[in-house]
Amino acid sequence: MSLAGDYDSANIFAKILRGEAPCVKIFEDDNVLAFMDIFPQSQGHCLVIPKDTTARNLMEFPADRLGVLFAAVQKLSNAVVKALSCDGVIVTQFNGAPAGQTVFHLHVHVIPRFANLPLQPHHGGKPADMAVLREQASRIAAAL
Ligand code: 5GP
Repeated sequence: MSLAGDYDSANIFAKILRGEAPCVKIFEDDNVLAFMDIFPQSQGHCLVIPKDTTARNLMEFPADRLGVLFAAVQKLSNAVVKALSCDGVIVTQFNGAPAGQTVFHLHVHVIPRFANLPLQPHHGGKPADMAVLREQASRIAAAL
């Protein structure tokens, strides 16, 4: 499935939203869920996903909901900087398999950057230690 296709309600982020799959949550409200990426490209790599949508990518998402989504992305980015004292933040998202998308529920990556640490490639990260993810999520949540 790439740019064209139907929304697959069995995708992992849909399962997380329904509570059918676990995640290390950072924050949640009526509109979005923010949680840790389990194959982080850097320490503190997290994701923001909109709720109540079948948008697989940015182009399918209603324009009038973008402000709410990106306000959450900004809020999370500020918390990441405060909690982790990173030197930079990558905010990115991928649309379609050739662009690098693997989960077809719209999501935005918030990836802290540290001046002296290499960035793991997209899909090149190692599975994270869940205890470490929980500790990072708790620090980020405390900085919201
Ligand atoms: P994409 O490649 O579609 O832009 O991003 C999907 C992201 O979801 C990847 O960074 C990948 O590491 C992450 N991911 C894949 N499966 C899971 C999962 O089961 N739980 C969590 N928290 N992240 C996942």
